Amino acid sequence: MRPPNRWPLHPYPIHGEAMTSWLGRIAACYSMNARNLLTSTAVGNGTSRPDLDLDPPKELLTELSLRTGVPSETLSRMNMAGWIPWLLDTLEPEEAAFNTYVNEFSIFLKPGIRPPRIVPGWRAWIPKIPYPRACPQCLDDPAREGLYLLWQLPLLLSCPDHGCLLEYCAGVPGEYFVWRTEDPLPRPASEAVREMDRRTGQAINDGSVALPRRTVHAGIWFRLLRTIIDELSCPLSLWGARKTAIESMWDACGEPARGGLAKWQALEELPRNKQGSLLTGTAHIIQALQEGALPGYGTSSDLFLPEPERLVDPGTRPQPKTAAKLSGLELVKEALDRALEDARHNPETAQALLGFATYGRTDTATLDTLTQRMVDLGIPAEYLSHKLLGQPSTAHKISDG
Ligand SMILES: [Zn+2]
Repeated sequence: MRPPNRWPLHPYPIHGEAMTSWLGRIAACYSMNARNLLTSTAVGNGTSRPDLDLDPPKELLTELSLRTGVPSETLSRMNMAGWIPWLLDTLEPEEAAFNTYVNEFSIFLKPGIRPPRIVPGWRAWIPKIPYPRACPQCLDDPAREGLYLLWQLPLLLSCPDHGCLLEYCAGVPGEYFVWRTEDPLPRPASEAVREMDRRTGQAINDGSVALPRRTVHAGIWFRLLRTIIDELSCPLSLWGARKTAIESMWDACGEPARGGLAKWQALEELPRNKQGSLLTGTAHIIQALQEGALPGYGTSSDLFLPEPERLVDPGTRPQPKTAAKLSGLELVKEALDRALEDARHNPETAQALLGFATYGRTDTATLDTLTQRMVDLGIPAEYLSHKLLGQPSTAHKISDG
């Protein structure tokens, strides 16, 4: 095995960066593009550019690790295969893949209302046609001048850190890069979109998302989101009495009802404007659910609602249990407590208790010890005499002096 030939210049990958972006930045150090870099150094064996971000061969990752010193575990998170099973179950085209992923949960529509679908070649979140996007504010920061892997997916509308919309672009910073819009950048996202994407950012970075009821694993968050998108892709007739409310929601967020779909299609197969509409609708319907403006009938809708307030009547105090509700042990303890209380004032009760406690004992040391324990419980010593046991009637005579 030949020794690794380390590339002299190799900027470290940014956390979350896509493989193509990182290789483009390395190649720019040598005034070439990523393809030329890989070919000229015989790395990658002709791996195509889309494969680099999807599922590059393990040998390529090993080779890149040797060339740069970046651990292969870090490199494996820079492509979609590294996000299995959090973001998606598999990259293999499986007939049941769609139903497995999208029908595990229900949020707005009752379970079973959405018909099962077969979507050939479907892979969760991975668009049929990729639309590269980037955050203008991230790219203004020299420390973050790379393209993030998950910016490529119809999963985020805005940058979770900056709250501005992700914008369509081409190329890789350092290599060749242009924005695909004439609009002044950055453009702010709506509050509902920022909140949805803040949670998605939390899922990506922390591995979990804090929802009002409980914290859920990132994998659950991605599936909840994809489920809501599918619910919104269904015909409005499935929404029953909430049809008008759902139409108002679409109006309020400035998008066409059902995200502009004339018939059901999977998000991943849609053109980018319809993907954007469905994601915007998802953000706004989550906000409507949380604010109580639109109820969810699915089994997981409660996750988005605050815990119900538990009202406690301030006048209510715990009531003593009635005799009927006391257990045998509780009854004995209660009787003993009553006897002890009486013995503190009544010599006859005190002497009777001493007789009970010392029953069967005859040696003086044990009798003295047990007597002292009863004194410790607050019974006057003068009420107690084991010498007089068996003559309770004389006990009070002691106290009389
Ligand atoms: Zn940003």
